[in-house]
Amino acid sequence: MEQSLLETKGRIFNIQRFSIHDGPGVRTIVFLKGCPLRCRWCCNPESQDWKPETMVTAGVSKTVGKDVTVEEVLREIERDRIYYRRSGHGGVTLSGGECLWQPDFSAALLRVCREVGISTAIETTGYADMDVIRKLLPYVDTVLMDIKHTNREKHKEFTTRDNELILENAKHIAKEAADLIIRTPVIPTFNATEEEIRSIAEFAKSLDGVEEMHLLPYHRIGSDKYAGLGRTYTMAHIQVPEKETMQKLLNVVQDVGLRAKIGG
Ligand code: SF4
Repeated sequence: MEQSLLETKGRIFNIQRFSIHDGPGVRTIVFLKGCPLRCRWCCNPESQDWKPETMVTAGVSKTVGKDVTVEEVLREIERDRIYYRRSGHGGVTLSGGECLWQPDFSAALLRVCREVGISTAIETTGYADMDVIRKLLPYVDTVLMDIKHTNREKHKEFTTRDNELILENAKHIAKEAADLIIRTPVIPTFNATEEEIRSIAEFAKSLDGVEEMHLLPYHRIGSDKYAGLGRTYTMAHIQVPEKETMQKLLNVVQDVGLRAKIGG
């Protein structure tokens, strides 16, 4: 293994062990700092800014964001290896924030994981130049990509960025990635209607080789972090979607011809 890969530096804010929601099997999730979007519902607002921040939750103040090497992260991941084996499959997932904002670190980490036989996934918005995305793709087993809305203006209104680059990149990623699963956060007032979910599902279905779509229901976990960062949570008035609503939306995705599930 190349020493320069192990020494590549990046900025993360958390490593979560034993997740079963972010890729196949039992996963270790590495949360990277920095994201180009500002989704109103984001449950990890401490991920968004590149600079380390102070966050106060439950009366405890902590600094969010720390610089690490690939080697240090790999050491943490290796501790969970036994659980990947036991669950039959599993591995590491890069989440965020947005791993495409730290492409050298992400590519190096994914590559060394692959070299030691650990399977890899990324959770991404796909908001980056395609050349940047191509740095990572050879080392990724599963791409979990968000498509949040097909309407450009609405996407921009709720996330601060329009979706043109994301939709265009999705077409290339579908062709070039080993496996692409589309994920959609279901957010009342933004996209939680049958018409909007159908439009996203039809787009997903049009992508080469995409067979699966996950609907992630809106929740308020993490909303207290906004106050802890001195920001305002603007979604407090939004109700979480009813089970029946989620079921109807699931049926819509299945009608379009995709395997579908609620949750990641
Ligand atoms: S893309 Fe993800 S991490 Fe970035 S702001 Fe949106 S929800 Fe948060």
